[in-house]
Amino acid sequence: MTRANDLMRIRDLLQRRRRAILSTSEGAQRELSALKDSDRDPEYEEQAQAELADYTLSSLMETQRREVMLIDAALRRMDTGVFGECVDCGADITIERLEAMPFAIRCEEDATSHELEMRGGHAQSIPTL
Ligand SMILES: [Zn+2]
Repeated sequence: MTRANDLMRIRDLLQRRRRAILSTSEGAQRELSALKDSDRDPEYEEQAQAELADYTLSSLMETQRREVMLIDAALRRMDTGVFGECVDCGADITIERLEAMPFAIRCEEDATSHELEMRGGHAQSIPTL
């Protein structure tokens, strides 16, 4: 297996995942509008249930929307040929890491130091040569 083949496989997985998310959220939206449009007696229980479903679905959809955005960004990086390259040091991110985290844009080392910086940790930044 070459790295190019591995990347193609990850691309395929991302595209399949994207389609799955989109069809799931379409189904959820249909279910939700069916629930809202049902002209049964507007009893409290049902209303509460519909509201709960609404809330659950919208937060679910928010999560899915974010994931689709991440997938789109990863696919765009693949199109421009920079997918799998660390944005900090330009090194190839290992396939193992990409398979576990296809949205990773940094190698493990840089991701760790980036995270420390984001947390306001006191990581000394050592200038890379
Ligand atoms: Zn790096």
